[in-house]
Amino acid sequence: MAPKFPPPFPVANSTLSFWRTELHALDSHRSTPELPSHVDILIIGAGFSGVSTAYHLLDNDNKQQPSIAILEAREACSGATGRNGGHIKPDLYFNVSKYAAKYGTAAAAEVALFEASQVYAMKKLVEKEKIDCDFILTRAIDATVDAQIAKESIAAYTKLSKEGVVEVINDVQYHTQKDAEGVSGVKGALCAFSFTAASIWPYKMVMHLLNLVVSKGVNLQTHTAVTEISETRDSDGFYTVKTKDRGSMKAKKIVFATNAYTAGIAPQFTNKIVPVRGICSRIVAPKETTPLLTTSSSVRYGHMLYDYLIPRADGSIVVGGAKQDFWNSLPHEWYGNVDDSKLIEPAKNYFDGYMQRTYRGWENSGAKVDKVWTGIMGYSSDYMPYVGHIPGKPGQLVVAGFSGHGMPLILRSTKGIADMILKDLPFKLTGVPRLFKVTKERMESQKNEILSQEKLARL
Ligand SMILES: Cc1cc2nc3c(=O)[nH]c(=O)nc-3n(C[C@H](O)[C@H](O)[C@H](O)COP(=O)(O)OP(=O)(O)OC[C@H]3O[C@@H](n4cnc5c(N)ncnc54)[C@H](O)[C@@H]3O)c2cc1C
Repeated sequence: MAPKFPPPFPVANSTLSFWRTELHALDSHRSTPELPSHVDILIIGAGFSGVSTAYHLLDNDNKQQPSIAILEAREACSGATGRNGGHIKPDLYFNVSKYAAKYGTAAAAEVALFEASQVYAMKKLVEKEKIDCDFILTRAIDATVDAQIAKESIAAYTKLSKEGVVEVINDVQYHTQKDAEGVSGVKGALCAFSFTAASIWPYKMVMHLLNLVVSKGVNLQTHTAVTEISETRDSDGFYTVKTKDRGSMKAKKIVFATNAYTAGIAPQFTNKIVPVRGICSRIVAPKETTPLLTTSSSVRYGHMLYDYLIPRADGSIVVGGAKQDFWNSLPHEWYGNVDDSKLIEPAKNYFDGYMQRTYRGWENSGAKVDKVWTGIMGYSSDYMPYVGHIPGKPGQLVVAGFSGHGMPLILRSTKGIADMILKDLPFKLTGVPRLFKVTKERMESQKNEILSQEKLARL
C-alpha cells in the first residue's frame, strides 16, 4: 500500500539554494496590489513550466494578446527549478530500452529524440533572448560503479545501437572498463557513456523570461497560493479560483504548472503526481589544487541510486543525489514529503568529502561543501510527465510530473501547451511525445511505479 500524505502545498522558509543567492527584482513581485478580477489564461506556478508557458504564449507578433496572470505560492522560481542540479541531461540510452519494452520502440524513440532536441532548443533560447545564465553546452559522462547496472546499461546500449531505431544513440559513446575511470574521473568506474548535454543557472534563465513576459503585460502575483478551483465554469465560461488569503479571481483557461504540488489543487492527480524530496549541494575548492572538470557527469550506484554533477566556470561544483543514504529504508524522508524547509536528515552530511572520495585526483583538493539544500520533485506514477488538456475539465491544462528530470523536457512541452491554447492544436500535432498525453487510461490507472522502483533499489 502506498503511504498516504496530505494534499501537497509549498511550505514556508525553504532552505537556501545556491541558485537563489542572487535574487532578481521580480522575486517577490506583484504587478498590481489586488488580483485581476478576470483573465483569459491563468498560469499557476512560476517555475520553469509556468514561466516558459507564458513565454511561448506571448512569443509572437499578434496585435491582440490574451490577458495572462501567473499566481505563485512563494517567491518566483522558488520551487524545484530554483533548487535543482542545473543539469540539462537528456536520457538517450539508459531508460530508453525500458520504455521500448513497455511502450514499443517508436514511442520510446520519440521521448529520446524530444529530450535530445531540448539541449539545442535551450541553447537557441539563451542566444535568442541573450540570457545571462551560465549556459554551457557540454558532454555528460555517466559512470557506473555497480556491476549489475553496468551489465544492464551495456546491454541496453548495445541493443539500441544494433537496432538503429533510436537515432540519437549515435550521439552516445560507450567506454569499456579499460577507459571508464580515465574518461570519467570516477574511481572504480566499470563503464562510462558520454553524450551531449548542458548546464545552466536555472533561476537566472527563468527570471529573465519572467521579466520579459511581465514587461509584455503578464500580471505576476507572488506569495499567492491557490487553494481551490470551482468544479465547473460559470455561464460566461470562467472558472473561479480561490487563493489562501488574497481573495478569488476568474479565469477562462487554467494551466497547472504546479509540478509536485499539482494534487493540492487538482485532486485527480493524487497518487499520479507525488511530491518527492531531493537534496543538492554546492562544493567549492581552491582553484590551484583542483583538477579541471570539463564535462558534467553522473555516478550510478544501483537501481534509482545515482548522483549528478555539474562543474561551473567559477570553479565550484553542484552535486545532487545522495539517495543511498535515505532512499531504501526511509520512504517518509522523501515520498509524499513537501518539506524543503529542512534538510534530509540521514543525507545532510553526504556531500562532505564527496569529491575526494569519488573523483580521481581530488584527494588533496581541499574541496568543501558551501551549501546544501532540499527541493521537491513531482514524480509521476508512471514516470511520464503529464502534458496537455485534463480529461473532463474543459479549458484546464497541465504541464507537470517531470520526475526529477524536467530540464530536458519542459521547454518544448510548454511550447506544446501554448500551441494547444492559442492555435487549438490537437495534441498529436504539438511534437510532444505521445506518452506524455493526459489520457483517461493514465488517469484511471491504479499503478504506482514510484514505490516499485524503490523496492527495486533494495535488491
Ligand atoms: C534537488 C533537485 C535536483 C534536481 N536536479 C535536476 C537536474 O539536475 N536536472 C533536471 O532535469 N531536473 C532536476 N530536478 C527536477 C527539476 O528541477 C524539475 O523537473 C523542474 O524544475 C520542474 O519545473 P516546474 O516549473 O514544473 O516545477 P517547479 O519549479 O517546482 O514550479 C512549480 C511552482 O508552482 C508553485 N505552486 C505549486 N502549487 C501552487 C499553488 N497551489 N498555488 C500557487 N503556486 C503553486 C510552486 O511554489 C512552484 O514555484 C531537480 C529537482 C530537485 C528538487
